[in-house]
Amino acid sequence: MAGALPYTAPVSPTDCLFCRIVAGEIPATVVRETGTTLAFRDIDPKAPVHVLVIPKEHYADVATLAQDDPGLTAEVLATAAAVAEDEGLLGDGFRLMFNTGAYGGQEVFHVHAHLLGGAPLGPMLAGNLT
Ligand code: AMP
Repeated sequence: MAGALPYTAPVSPTDCLFCRIVAGEIPATVVRETGTTLAFRDIDPKAPVHVLVIPKEHYADVATLAQDDPGLTAEVLATAAAVAEDEGLLGDGFRLMFNTGAYGGQEVFHVHAHLLGGAPLGPMLAGNLT
């Protein structure tokens, strides 16, 4: 549809890009791995540090993950915090965000936290939408 947001319908785990990274079928620059989570550099970084943190198990978005597995949600956040420390972001701060669904601009439907830092990140949104 012309003018539509870059919205991609949810995919099954078998053809999910990030599941394929977890499986080692697609290369990624991994910065941290635990038994349940993976953190790797974004292929198109928007800040000096731009790392994606995912659960290895497929969940489409953060709402589904949080509802279905609060413990795994906490593990994703703990991995993000550990990467923030590894990358030297704790002093100056960072941003952690989950784009969700069409309005959130989500393009890959395997839940991922964007860890952004290494420079002042500016306002939360490009403009005031109210
Ligand atoms: P989102 O719009 O929140 O769904 O973000 C998806 C992110 O995945 C974007 O920032 C992309 O640059 C990133 N991305 C897409 N493909 C890859 C890949 N193969 N390796 C690392 N990051 C990727």
